[in-house]
Amino acid sequence: MTEHYLDGNALAGPLREIFTVDTTAATCRCVGCGLTGPVAALRVYSRAPGLVARCQSCGQVILRLVRSPDKVWLDLRGTACLQIPMPR
Ligand SMILES: [Zn+2]
Repeated sequence: MTEHYLDGNALAGPLREIFTVDTTAATCRCVGCGLTGPVAALRVYSRAPGLVARCQSCGQVILRLVRSPDKVWLDLRGTACLQIPMPR
């Protein structure tokens, strides 16, 4: 069976509602395998309630984002560290 997923750039709009910076340019470290890489390289599954982003190496869930009309749930427990580039 072929997996259907998008790349991490699919998170740009939903995360932009929460953060003032472009988090797809950020680097994250997976709690499952320790892989460090760009958020844009995550595998994003949209056929779930909200968005589920998985590590491209081990499949660990890195991030879950669910949006209702007046709330956002952001689960980052699969992210050991998120490094966000900031303007000087
Ligand atoms: Zn991993």
